[in-house]
Amino acid sequence: MEKTFAIIKPDAIAAKNTGKIIDMIERDGFTILRMEKIQLSEEEAKVFYAVHKEKPFFQEVIDFMVSGPIIIMALEKENAIADWRALMGVTNPENADEGTIRKLFGTGIMTNCTHGSDSPENAKTELGLFFEDLD
Ligand code: GDP
Repeated sequence: MEKTFAIIKPDAIAAKNTGKIIDMIERDGFTILRMEKIQLSEEEAKVFYAVHKEKPFFQEVIDFMVSGPIIIMALEKENAIADWRALMGVTNPENADEGTIRKLFGTGIMTNCTHGSDSPENAKTELGLFFEDLD
């Protein structure tokens, strides 16, 4: 069994797509180990997206991620990291496969409704940032 870290981003919450996304997660066989609706601070968002701090869109993404509440989740499944990335689809919803979450609910390269860890190292780091009690 593998764990990954997922976020339902502010755009999807504002559009009231939370339930549909959670339904897709459970139908795909994930177990939701932890789930919480939180408001990120600017400081927390900057730590979370620190790898992008040199990118031209960094501040835009930070502003977006603090623009409203998010839902953070710890998901578990065999192959959870790759499977959650597959269920989300690629970063730009325009290029995402039919039936993926980003294709269905994403509205732009930034407003792409969900986040998922992209490697075991990042999953461990991201889960550790938000769910300290998870082993
Ligand atoms: P992910 O792993 O698929 O989420 O993609 P990245 O790690 O490359 O980017 C992190 C997040 O930054 C994405 O999910 C988008 O919300 C946002 N993002 C990525 N590329 C762009 C861009 O070119 N412009 C803007 N405004 N946001 C972007």
